[in-house]
Amino acid sequence: MGSESHDSVHIFLFPFMAHGHMIPVSDMAKLFASHGVKITIVTTPQNAIRFSQTTQSGKPYDIQIKAIEFPSEEAGLPKGCENLDSLPKPELANTFFKATRLLQAPLEELLNEFKPTSLVADMFFPWATEAAAKFGIPRLVFHGTSFFSLCASECVRLYEPYNTVSGETDTFVIPNLPGEIELTRSQVPDFMKNNVLNDLTQLLKEAKASELKSYGIVVNSFYELEPVYADYYRNGLGRKAWHIGPVSLCNRETEEKVQRGLEASIDEHECLKWLDSKKPDSVVYVCFGSVAKFNSTQLKEIAMALEAAGQDFIWVVRKGKDEVDQDEWLPEGFEERMEGKGLIIRGWAPQVLILDHPSVGGFVTHCGWNSTLEGISAGLPMVTWPVSAEQFYNEKLVTQVLKIGVGVGAQKWIRLIGDSVKKEAIVKAVSQIMVGEEAEVRRSRARELGKQARRAVEEGGSSYEDFNKLIEELKSHS
Ligand code: UDP
Repeated sequence: MGSESHDSVHIFLFPFMAHGHMIPVSDMAKLFASHGVKITIVTTPQNAIRFSQTTQSGKPYDIQIKAIEFPSEEAGLPKGCENLDSLPKPELANTFFKATRLLQAPLEELLNEFKPTSLVADMFFPWATEAAAKFGIPRLVFHGTSFFSLCASECVRLYEPYNTVSGETDTFVIPNLPGEIELTRSQVPDFMKNNVLNDLTQLLKEAKASELKSYGIVVNSFYELEPVYADYYRNGLGRKAWHIGPVSLCNRETEEKVQRGLEASIDEHECLKWLDSKKPDSVVYVCFGSVAKFNSTQLKEIAMALEAAGQDFIWVVRKGKDEVDQDEWLPEGFEERMEGKGLIIRGWAPQVLILDHPSVGGFVTHCGWNSTLEGISAGLPMVTWPVSAEQFYNEKLVTQVLKIGVGVGAQKWIRLIGDSVKKEAIVKAVSQIMVGEEAEVRRSRARELGKQARRAVEEGGSSYEDFNKLIEELKSHS
């Protein structure tokens, strides 16, 4: 793939330990390696096992993985808890974020030993800029989100527009952000509105400061998707950034798509056989990412909506078969009635494999950036159902800027759990993306973006070119 030799460049990739951060880093590792760049992923022992499986599936890549100990017990976490998705309760999230500071010393040992050309470290590791600087190594930041979200969140942080309204359902325009983008107060996290000082907010402040001192920012997006915001981020907000995505497009073979993230809870052949039996664009894929976990009432509401909407569907439910409340959320006789029409995947789905299948015609998503960009890359219209993190911004990009999605009406930012949404709203939004003239217009816009995404990563495309610029610039440091 790469035309020139880049083997004088050695990059350390250091992802935050959550699937939404590790998966794109795994893709990025393949992307760099396919251009002949020497790559080392630094992570904890449990996560290292997963990385070696994902990076060695399909075509084998020359990617080194270095494991560093994560003393989870010392930090007040259960033994072996090394990933955000293995927290026994969501309240431990702040402890987890704080605990990652313990990784600084072992990371520095590795930096000292290998002296890589650059360290690409997750935004949640603000201390990484200083750690790299000790050895004269430029640190790049990876946030894992869109230019649009990076710009919107920065304008909200700088101008605190939520303070100009008092009611939770009152709307405000995000100041200085191109496009007159409106949010309601309830879509802003409470810790921000209430100026809460805790480990997480402290970490976010430090992350901002360290980002400004870092060498630059690597963005998993492509220029044609959000040119106004890519320009605003660089020229308006003054950030040095490179767009290199969609990185998920480096997974071309079925095996690679299946091995992304966790081990799939469904046999890929079974899944593909089911999809093959469906008409083009007829299936709605419903998935809320790797961490959001809805309660039983909400799951029941979704089940009833999927039945009422009448479309074929694949629904990924993050409640295990063996959980105590296993049946509570399923309406009586649901699975029997939906046999052949709907497929429930309990656990982990091979998402990119599913999204890329021609039978899939729509995506109900929580607007995590990876999922959003994977949906865009597959040319799919979406129902947007943001839960927390920066997902409300991504929703605005999809519905208002790109006009390829319909909001389900989630109004409140609630970490991991989300706002409650009623059956009727879900049925309406699903129908709007699947049926009728407007749906067709949205679908053709989405298709065009999917094509542009593919072009961006091909030789000569915008992401391909920016990737090369990044490598050339790093070479001057090696
Ligand atoms: N994912 C998957 N199967 C699942 C759930 C999630 O492959 O059953 C992948 C999805 O393709 C995406 C990532 O997990 O790459 C989730 O990242 P995202 O940013 O969408 O959301 P997060 O999990 O961080 O909330």
